[in-house]
Amino acid sequence: MATDTLDVSATPSLLVERNPNPVDPATRAALIAEPGFGRVFTDHMAIIRYSDAKGWHDAKITARGPIPLDPAAAVLHYAQEIFEGMKAYHLADGGMALFRPEMNAKRFCDSARRLAMPEIPEKLFVDSVRQLVETDRDWFPPVEGGSLYLRPFMFASEVFLGVKPSAEYLYIVIASAVGGYFKSGAPAVSLWVSQDYTRAAPGGTGAVKCGGNYAASLAAQAEAIRKGFDQVVFLDAAERRYVEELGGMNLFFVFEDGSIQTPPLGGTILPGITRDSLLTLAREEGLTVREEPYAIDQWQADAESGRLKESFACGTAAVVTPVGKVTSPDFSFTIGDGGAGALTLRLKQRLVDIQRGVAPDPHHWVMRLD
Ligand SMILES: *Cc1c(COP(=O)(O)O)cnc(C)c1O
Repeated sequence: MATDTLDVSATPSLLVERNPNPVDPATRAALIAEPGFGRVFTDHMAIIRYSDAKGWHDAKITARGPIPLDPAAAVLHYAQEIFEGMKAYHLADGGMALFRPEMNAKRFCDSARRLAMPEIPEKLFVDSVRQLVETDRDWFPPVEGGSLYLRPFMFASEVFLGVKPSAEYLYIVIASAVGGYFKSGAPAVSLWVSQDYTRAAPGGTGAVKCGGNYAASLAAQAEAIRKGFDQVVFLDAAERRYVEELGGMNLFFVFEDGSIQTPPLGGTILPGITRDSLLTLAREEGLTVREEPYAIDQWQADAESGRLKESFACGTAAVVTPVGKVTSPDFSFTIGDGGAGALTLRLKQRLVDIQRGVAPDPHHWVMRLD
């Protein structure tokens, strides 16, 4: 099918087969003018196969399209699947870049180990993402802050119903044009405290990015929406007392004395790269930073007394999202004036400026692409 197949010398491991039927430029322009999130996809995907017998093989960038799957493929029965979420950013000078992609590669390998899957070499992971972005560079939305959201994922493809780690896997990266979050400053979200459901238990999979965590969070998230809130916030599974995180974002608390706090990574919290980056920036500013448990009743008391000034959630998709209001069946409290706090906005801006290449990057977080 492919018209031109060429080896890319910089990364000999991935072949590039150009899509012979890409979306025509006029249709593409209309699609990326207002892409929203996660619905507009590019012309290509990266795909790499793994088998116990051959290891990683058949690595290529090829036309994006359906993947044939046997109905007995293990992932459809036992959910052996992991993923990553990252972005390629447009730099202010017109270039493009990834942000800390090696962190995504490492976390992907952590996830793989937890789900008894093979680890992908860091270079192959980063090359697959990088070459996909370079191939689909025309899909960057022409709006401020527009980016390509990248979704690497891997699943068990062996045709076998026995319960064991699969002997075969598919690793795929797809890219989606997404709009900017920078226009008006993100509006604050309201949170519903889930009492019936938890997200992660000690010894479980809460610290890795597997689809199953999300499947298990959907009923709680649907309950939050039904009750009129934006997002669900999960408490710890053991005591139902300590605030952990949202279904897909980490939480931060900002106090009157200027200190900030976030729950510690104890195996039930996803180690967000945005979380880690913001902690680093805050420490560099000389802020007092605590990674300590925070009880839900303390959160309420501190918000009501004014000791707590701001709260925000963070993750790659929306960067930083202020939390305005928290509600459970027993109580409801507002944080600050219910809008975005000053420190929240400043930390967000500092991170965005580094990601866009307009602020110094002393930690070499930005990986410029060709
Ligand atoms: C992906 C994810 C995050 C955010 O991680 P980033 O690396 O900052 O995007 C937070 N919590 C959960 C549960 C996640 O899956």
